[in-house]
This record gives sequence, C-alpha cells and structure tokens, in this order.
Amino acid sequence: MHDPHCIFCKIIAGQIPSNKVYEDDELYAFHDINPIAPVHFLIIPKQHIDSLAHATADDEALLGKLLGLAPRLAAEQGLKNGFKTAINTGRGGGQEVFHLHIHVFGHPG
Ligand code: AMP
Ligand code: ZN
Repeated sequence: MHDPHCIFCKIIAGQIPSNKVYEDDELYAFHDINPIAPVHFLIIPKQHIDSLAHATADDEALLGKLLGLAPRLAAEQGLKNGFKTAINTGRGGGQEVFHLHIHVFGHPG
C-alpha cells in the first residue's frame, strides 16, 4: 500500500506538506505545486497504484470515486463553467510521479 519512496504517499502520510483540498478514507486531493492554470489540483487514491495502467478490476470502484469527485471539487474550487482533466500514464504519457493521479484544472468562471 504505502510506498516509502513515493512522494505522494509521503504527502498522504503528512511527511511532506501539501495544500489540501479534500480528504476521505480512500482519496486525497491537493493543489499542484507547479500549476498550469489559475486552479490546478490533483486527486489521488490513498492506496498506492503506480499508474492507470497498473489499476486492476479490483480498483474499478475506487477509480469511479476518483472520477466522480472531480466535478464536485472543481465546483468548490470555483470552476463553475467547466474544467479540464488529465491522467498522464507512463513515461510516454508524460507521467513524472508514479502514484496514480488525476489533474483537474481551469479558470474560475
Ligand atoms: P505527472 O506528469 O502527471 O506525473 O504530474 C505530476 C504533477 O505533480 C506535476 O504537475 C507536479 O507539479 C506535481 N507535483 C510534484 N510534486 C508535488 C508536490 N510536492 N506537491 C504538489 N504537487 C506536486
Ligand atoms: Zn504512492
């Protein structure tokens, strides 16, 4: 579950500070440290999964919750007119942190 070398696992554990947006038993959300839009946050599962390509059928409910949380938090963060999402997967997909995360970003409307 917890990978001691993973920066996002350390954020979940409070070992690295983050600007938290949301937390429940299974999910954690925080503002991206290098935002590409006025609002840019990440939603991650607390369970360490390397990438979307590493998710299994057992993770489907978790993936559904992660995706379903995006519009709710986007609205709370002021993205009333819509938002963009991205899940970078693998080196070829531009993934830099190998703990599954969805980017949610946009301009407050
Ligand atoms: P990706 O290319 O999808 O793996 O993106 C990783 C994202 O994590 C980048 O947008 C980084 O700016 C962000 N990031 C890396 N370290 C931190 C951190 N300590 N706190 C918040 N965001 C981070
Ligand atoms: Zn991790």
